[in-house]
Amino acid sequence: EVKRGGKNGYRLYSAELDDELLFKIEVEADLRKSIERGELEIHYQPQYRMPDRELIGMEALLRWRHPVRGMIPPGRFIPIAEETGLIIEIGSWVLREACLQAKAWHDEGRAKVPVSVNLSTQQFHQPDLEFEIERILAETGLDPQYLELEITESMMMDASASIDILNRLNGLGIRLSLDDFGTGYSSLSYLSVLPINRLKIDRSFVMRLEESGSEQAIVKTIIAMAYSLGMDVIAEGIETEGQLEILTGQRCLEFQGYYFSRPVPPHHLFDGETQRGA
Ligand code: C2E
Ligand code: MG
Ligand code: MG
Ligand code: MG
Repeated sequence: EVKRGGKNGYRLYSAELDDELLFKIEVEADLRKSIERGELEIHYQPQYRMPDRELIGMEALLRWRHPVRGMIPPGRFIPIAEETGLIIEIGSWVLREACLQAKAWHDEGRAKVPVSVNLSTQQFHQPDLEFEIERILAETGLDPQYLELEITESMMMDASASIDILNRLNGLGIRLSLDDFGTGYSSLSYLSVLPINRLKIDRSFVMRLEESGSEQAIVKTIIAMAYSLGMDVIAEGIETEGQLEILTGQRCLEFQGYYFSRPVPPHHLFDGETQRGA
């Protein structure tokens, strides 16, 4: 037990810190075994285009079914996976699994739409990422146009290196989207030279749309900018009819959020239970 309550008055080991540290240590050990134990799974959240509510894509969202702790959300363990480097192996697993699932849906005659996979910062900067993806596409048989990678502004702090990576990925014929757009600090001048197909308006803007005129102005500007750069734009985290109306009024036509469907296990996707209006 270490306590330094003396002159500086700081205590290194508060109970809270203990808990967090313990969580990290345990989770790291368990995470190493999670893949082989089959504890990781992917849920899929559909994306729609209005006004016809046409299904246009699925986002793959990682879940960890921990034997003792229950379902652990990605926000809780992906940062630990990043710190420990485990994200490389986990990220490869997600990519392969999502491509396999999309291919299976296509072969079964389900909606032939792209699957979107989130990349982590470490994965993005992995020197052989391009070849890894090429290999996964070849092995799973998924046509490159049906894979979309979601990256974030914060991954692209080194602008010139990032443009190079994005160009090489783009060369594979896959799609690229900029996730959580508006929350990072991307240089607007770079945006015009990036081979990005789609901007995803972050949920934090959508959340405040109905109360805040300034939020509406920001979103309106993002939408206009996307179109003038020749990109598509999708709003994430749509929960209400009101948000949908404001956004369609601003010519945003692609949506993803609880209003339409939560992320669900793949076998639930086409059983009609989770789809509204369809
Ligand atoms: P994201 O990529 O921005 O994914 C959207 C998140 O918002 C998901 O949380 C989704 O469940 C949630 N969401 C969607 N619609 C709504 C809504 O209407 N209301 C609310 N309140 N939330 C909504 P989730 O699944 O917990 O994932 C959180 C983040 O974890 C993701 O944010 C992404 O950054 C990361 N993540 C998830 N899967 C992976 C993965 O396979 N690899 C990596 N590197 N990161 C992942
Ligand atoms: Mg995402
Ligand atoms: Mg997002
Ligand atoms: Mg987000």
